[in-house]
Amino acid sequence: MSHVFHRDPSVALPVVVAGDGPYLIDRDGRRYLDASGGAAVSCLGHSDREVIAAIKAQLDVLPYAHTSFFTNEPAEALAEALVSHAPEGFSRVFFVSGGSEAVEAALKLARQYFVEIGQPARHRIVARRQSYHGGTIGGLSAGGNVARRELYGPILLDVSHVSPCYAYRGKEPGESDDAYGARLAAELDAELLRLGPETVMAFVAETVVGATLGAVPAVAGYFRRVREVCDRHGVLLILDEVMSGMGRTGTMYACEQEGIVPDLLCVSKGIGAGYQPLGATLVHERIYDAIVSGSGAFRHAHTFMGHATACAAGLAVQRAIAERGLLPQVRSLGDALLSALRERFAEYPFVGDVRGRGLFVGVELVADRESRQPFEPGRAVHKRVKRAAMARGMLCYPNGGTADGVRGDHVLLAPAFIVDERQLTIIVDTLAEAIDEATT
Ligand code: PMP
Repeated sequence: MSHVFHRDPSVALPVVVAGDGPYLIDRDGRRYLDASGGAAVSCLGHSDREVIAAIKAQLDVLPYAHTSFFTNEPAEALAEALVSHAPEGFSRVFFVSGGSEAVEAALKLARQYFVEIGQPARHRIVARRQSYHGGTIGGLSAGGNVARRELYGPILLDVSHVSPCYAYRGKEPGESDDAYGARLAAELDAELLRLGPETVMAFVAETVVGATLGAVPAVAGYFRRVREVCDRHGVLLILDEVMSGMGRTGTMYACEQEGIVPDLLCVSKGIGAGYQPLGATLVHERIYDAIVSGSGAFRHAHTFMGHATACAAGLAVQRAIAERGLLPQVRSLGDALLSALRERFAEYPFVGDVRGRGLFVGVELVADRESRQPFEPGRAVHKRVKRAAMARGMLCYPNGGTADGVRGDHVLLAPAFIVDERQLTIIVDTLAEAIDEATT
């Protein structure tokens, strides 16, 4: 009997014992090609000698020291590296241990910012219906997935949800991307006006929607319009790049490709690449200055923030990405993966859409390609695809079919930045076989 409280005890999980590049190996010696990097985490694969050496070296001198007494060298160096790629005006990094903590810190920073500048009525959040922002109460409140929230109410935060930017299902027939983006921005504007903008602190969005929809980038211009709406109403823009940040989409931060500067930017997953639990909230100077010149300190802390060993891992990951030229590689491998999937599934009856950016790719499964009719949620086709792929030695990240009505089934692919073309071909072939099995 396992004494670990697995989320779903009805599923017997294999015991994994080793990692080898983009592969994981279980106790029975079975190898799995990790096509989703866990959940967009393992950007360098599972056995990167340089990252492991950096962690060991840090453990030899200083594993951990509490940040109320000290800062430490890896944390300082990693913050500098993160800021050097960040959008203009971002000069501070608040370190945490994961994605939910990064979102939680962003929500509290936004709240404290408005208290400091004398607008304490701003406490509401607007987010998007298909989104995931973490499992803590703040992140859960912001997230749009009804099924994940409903058991845990009353939820602490006052959140309302607007439509995500989801061209495949959201665009009207014949509507241009530009008109679609404008319509969504108008919906946000209307929602802020309905709530009373003077009561809203932030709009929260994933720059590229990850787990909930399967790597859905926004249409061109959407985020510029969202930024304008937020500015017009004095609402902060929090971008959640817990999945899509850290090079996953081919630039260090996904928002770089949108041409906008948020107010708070959350990252995790790829920052520690699975070698250590790590996350960070990047803070715009305006917010930092208001807090420091106001009550003086951010009233929020975690025991393991700025953990020296975790930050040493993060620094080694940053160096690997820079020194090995991995960002251009993510762009070219990502393009190759998208084209291979589109070609393979061009005539395929049960694949409605293939989308993504960089090595962050989603495949949407439909019962009928023509009408885009999703599968019955009860069939849980996404879970079947996951099982069928795993039985063939490949890991992909499924989602879908839950109670919020709009979402069908999809599979997320987010392989390591170091996969080769042969492995990309295996991913495409195995996924096709798994979809065949799951839909018959
Ligand atoms: N935000 C996004 C966009 C995520 O994808 C996730 C995790 N899937 C989180 C927040 C929460 O991160 P964690 O599970 O590390 O707490």
